[in-house]
Amino acid sequence: MEFSILADSFSKMESTRKRLELTQFLVELFEKTPHEVISKIVYLIQGKLRPDFEGVELGVAEKLAMRAISKSSGIPIKKIEDEYRKGGDLGHAASIILEQKTQTTFLVEDITIERVYETLFKIAKLEGVRSQDMKIKYISSLLNDASPLEASFILKILLGTLRLGIAENTVMDALAIAFSGNKENRKILEYAYNVSSDLGKVAETIAIKGIKEIEKFEIILFNPIRPMLADRVKSEDEAIEKMGDNFAAEYKLDGERVQIHIEGEKVELFSRSLEKISNYYPDIIENIPKIIQADNVILEAEAVAINENTGEFLPFQELMHRRRKYKIEKAVTQYPITVNFFDVLYYNGKSCLEVDYKNRRDRLEKIVKEDNFAKYIPMTIVKNKNEIEDFFENSINAGSEGLMLKMLDKPYKAGSRGSHWLKLKREYQNELGDSLDLVIIGGFFGKGRRTGSYGTLLLATYDEDYDTFTSICKVGTGFSDENLDQLYQILHPKVTIKKNPRINSEMEADVWFEPELVIEVVASEITISPIHKAAKDKIRKGAGLALRFPKFTGKIRMEKTSEDASTNEEVITLYKGQKKVAHDKNLI
Ligand code: AMP
Repeated sequence: MEFSILADSFSKMESTRKRLELTQFLVELFEKTPHEVISKIVYLIQGKLRPDFEGVELGVAEKLAMRAISKSSGIPIKKIEDEYRKGGDLGHAASIILEQKTQTTFLVEDITIERVYETLFKIAKLEGVRSQDMKIKYISSLLNDASPLEASFILKILLGTLRLGIAENTVMDALAIAFSGNKENRKILEYAYNVSSDLGKVAETIAIKGIKEIEKFEIILFNPIRPMLADRVKSEDEAIEKMGDNFAAEYKLDGERVQIHIEGEKVELFSRSLEKISNYYPDIIENIPKIIQADNVILEAEAVAINENTGEFLPFQELMHRRRKYKIEKAVTQYPITVNFFDVLYYNGKSCLEVDYKNRRDRLEKIVKEDNFAKYIPMTIVKNKNEIEDFFENSINAGSEGLMLKMLDKPYKAGSRGSHWLKLKREYQNELGDSLDLVIIGGFFGKGRRTGSYGTLLLATYDEDYDTFTSICKVGTGFSDENLDQLYQILHPKVTIKKNPRINSEMEADVWFEPELVIEVVASEITISPIHKAAKDKIRKGAGLALRFPKFTGKIRMEKTSEDASTNEEVITLYKGQKKVAHDKNLI
């Protein structure tokens, strides 16, 4: 398939922010695509080459891309740099440069999607001393044969700056329409995606084999399953209202969620956002298979940093010391952990997702033999408010965040947040001091001591209905100098020229970011806002909700993707809860 078809589609997609239009462009593209290339197109649309869990990263630096453009066009790097500075987008700059190309190429080979994809794949796999030169050679050979528009998209993919604003849900809508003629079939696709975490594979299956095969999708060992998530509740009473009078309560530990896949000696670990994180936990890889009684299994656990002397749980932040490429052995001894198991998703060749919680927990306790390193998350069955309160107290005293409450007779709902699991955290109980996980969408340059950093950030909730990020507040307090430095380092590469189409904000920022990084904030109150877009029209027509006196808690939630951020539904629940508390106290 010619790459020009994809480049034309990308160019149309870049010009709109409307989800329906994007879906329509995707449907048209999928209908033109030969079935054997569809998975490649789906990965490329997401700016990837393979699903996240395979860890295939392009990682081409701007300097190297400029050298390749220069090699292909014969135009000096200095001139390319000037063009780049004018617009701030190297892909676009390359298309202008290539229009003025001084070198002519005679033997032009066709640029097909297959060729671009394979070349990008080779580039991603290159390592070692000569890899830089080889990368330049591969990139310039593509640019030689590419039209200016094609070149601009090849470079955007290479540099990781392709920003079409297309969410997974939109891709699934379009696949359902293009290959089954019915958008409602999205639900079936979602299940397949939830158990495989591989949208390219889902696309290829529906295109080649049809929707019937999608219904048969099964778990594959070493492909992560999208995790089940919990709704939040503010009080024991609310939990009882939602769950009845017989459910499980588990400690909610403050660590990193790890999905552990084991078959014989082979072990891989995946994070909550489905990345392979085996390298950070050599101690899990080494110790866990020894105590597992199963031929093959997928388990879920919370890895928690501990104080070696007292055995006390330490906060999540301690684990970030393990996020390093080198000298990991040293970090393992300096920051010891325990692995606290709470679920089993697959056991001896069979899915356990349909098994109810009670039976999964029983099975888990047969599979894992506890020792000093491996534990089950403490659990008890609760029947009334007193029992929840007692267990909550114990959990806080042990250094955990609160409780996870789980219905006994419910299956594991991969990839979804719902009321079969509820979380009850300590801070939710104090009336207005709730914490929220919000996405950073914009920044304002700092003044005075904060010059050279983003002194204030614009934050958003996740709007599940429209798959967008809706502004909810500006936050400028709670940052230490170290936080500001760290945030600048992480955010600077995420700056975009145009606001990402998934951002919904009327408030203008000095700079816009890719909506990717999540931080935790607390606030004194949730108020009606004429400016902010969170939960717009839900409480009052024409108005949204905003946080009053928001403050950064110091926690950068690296383990969360932006779709894991607090949703508008959650904010509405908090807003209503806060009104209820005020009412009960006769304040209103
Ligand atoms: P939150 O990050 O506040 O949305 O809470 C969900 C996270 O709590 C999960 O992704 C897990 O990392 C963590 N967690 C801690 N204890 C448990 C537990 N007992 N069951 C499930 N998840 C837990």
